[in-house]
Amino acid sequence: MIPRTVFNTEHEQFRDTVRKFLENEAVPHHAQWEKEGQVDRVLWNKAGEMGFLCPQVPEAYGGLELDFGYNAIIDEEISRLGLTGIGWGLHSDIAVPYIANYGSEEQKQKYLPKCISGEIVTAIAMTEPGTGSDLQNVRTTAIRDGDHYVLNGSKTFITNGQHADLVIVVAKTNPDEGASGVSLLLVDTSLPGFKKGTNLEKIGMKAQDTSELFFDDVRVPAEDLLGGEGQGFIYLMQELPQERLGVAIGAIANAEAGLQWTIDYVRERKAFGRPIASFQNTQFKLAELSSELTALRVFVDRCLELHYEKKLDVPTAAKAKLLATDFQCKLLDECVQLHGGYGYMWEYPIARAWADARVQRIYAGTNEIMKLIIGRDLVKN
Ligand SMILES: Cc1cc2nc3c(=O)[nH]c(=O)nc-3n(C[C@H](O)[C@H](O)[C@H](O)COP(=O)(O)OP(=O)(O)OC[C@H]3O[C@@H](n4cnc5c(N)ncnc54)[C@H](O)[C@@H]3O)c2cc1C
Repeated sequence: MIPRTVFNTEHEQFRDTVRKFLENEAVPHHAQWEKEGQVDRVLWNKAGEMGFLCPQVPEAYGGLELDFGYNAIIDEEISRLGLTGIGWGLHSDIAVPYIANYGSEEQKQKYLPKCISGEIVTAIAMTEPGTGSDLQNVRTTAIRDGDHYVLNGSKTFITNGQHADLVIVVAKTNPDEGASGVSLLLVDTSLPGFKKGTNLEKIGMKAQDTSELFFDDVRVPAEDLLGGEGQGFIYLMQELPQERLGVAIGAIANAEAGLQWTIDYVRERKAFGRPIASFQNTQFKLAELSSELTALRVFVDRCLELHYEKKLDVPTAAKAKLLATDFQCKLLDECVQLHGGYGYMWEYPIARAWADARVQRIYAGTNEIMKLIIGRDLVKN
């Protein structure tokens, strides 16, 4: 294996703490949470106490002010253990950075400490029943009325949707315009007119609460506009590389775990009087997967290094997301095959991983949208 160079000793010590915590506090309960459709809310508060939420947030707001490598380690450990119900990545890597990067001083003081402690769970609501990929065409509106914005519309497929206390809502403050009419609002889920729909039933990630959200004349105080009016689309474009890098990092860690489970399995399982690991087909499959995985691990680590230096550009992040998630799904499918019928049984981690992974090619921008971004960049003037 090619040694990794993106993490230092402190990172690795942090990894040990995260892993032990997850093994004690999440692994024993995850199957039950899958039945319940969500993780125990207390897990968020425990994670807050351990410093696992929003490690990048500056010390001035109660954070640890660490580099994104710490987020990456948390993403990797969650993915390695198949704990797909835990929505800390959405909170720490995706939603909270909008507040940290574009929030007013008052908003940062008000929300960040509680996001770090786990008192507030965040979500980001972009997708609507009628539009996902085409974000410029969201129908949710936030129309200024005195000291408030009046929010109307609905969202769907929102991660952390049931647990969320604070949602960053993508809405049109000027419905007559496209991208330049889009703004972001910080919306407290306890406001009158805000309704959470049912927890959606999915084919994987069963412990992850994913919901519809409805807004019926929700009066959002004007001071809860995030950043400038009409700037929302620009903020989304700026934050998406980190979101996509996080997805790629999780994909590779999960693929590594899937390959290891499969190696362990084929060495034990016998057919025709010998371990299935001894068949040439098995070894060739494993060799192909391991080779591709090594190349992708090096590429994604390099992207992480670039992100440390704030040099990860939009098309490169899109390439990482596209390649890592396509490969994760391919690897897990081959690994299910090598498990035979047991690979189709929910009690086997490989079966769960296979089902959980499918959405990786759909959210954070579909892989077709990734190709669009990469292709457009290649042919631009
Ligand atoms: C488990 C889960 C969690 C999610 N979490 C969140 C969340 O927290 N917040 C949030 O806002 N959203 C979330 N989503 C929504 C997700 O981001 C969207 O589903 C995704 O962006 C695709 O949008 P869509 O479903 O409307 O598909 P569509 O946009 O309708 O796409 C359908 C198909 O058409 C293709 N397509 C669309 N446009 C083009 C084009 N121009 N060229 C080529 N092909 C195209 C797509 O690639 C796709 O294959 C989540 C989804 C799931 C399933």
